[in-house]
Amino acid sequence: MKYITDSYEETEKVAAEFARGLKGGEVIAMYGDLGAGKTAFVRGMARALGIQDHITSPTFTILNVYEGGRLPLYHFDVYRIADPDEMYEIGYEDYIGSDGVAVIEWAELIDDILPDEYIRIDIRRDSLDDDDHREISIGRVRRG
Ligand code: ADP
Ligand code: MG
Repeated sequence: MKYITDSYEETEKVAAEFARGLKGGEVIAMYGDLGAGKTAFVRGMARALGIQDHITSPTFTILNVYEGGRLPLYHFDVYRIADPDEMYEIGYEDYIGSDGVAVIEWAELIDDILPDEYIRIDIRRDSLDDDDHREISIGRVRRG
């Protein structure tokens, strides 16, 4: 599934629509450069799940847990992970495949430990002249 957005708000809307279809247990791997809109997308998801908290990238804490919504949301930002083993230390396995929704920014850095099935979301900033233009693709991955 492909979406084009031309503002931050549109990206939140696409994310909100996506989140309405979540049942719990999903792992969502997010890809895209710094400033692509990964956290913007997670904000849209959180809002649609009824989470009231302000969402920021857990760049230093690696994981933020939000439990006030329709489903628990486990928001990972693994940018600063040096070794996938660090993920186990913060309880990665307890969150992956639980009843909540796990969303992982910079998922390419922990590719080896992603589950066999996950949802892949790519956000691309394509044109150099229009800074608000984004291409978002959402697809299912099955491997192993
Ligand atoms: P990331 O988490 O991928 O590093 P953020 O979501 O933190 O990115 O930041 C995205 C930045 O891009 C924000 O400053 C946001 O306002 C801006 N932006 C501009 N256009 C868009 C768009 N179409 N979708 C999402 N963010 C956008
Ligand atoms: Mg971010």
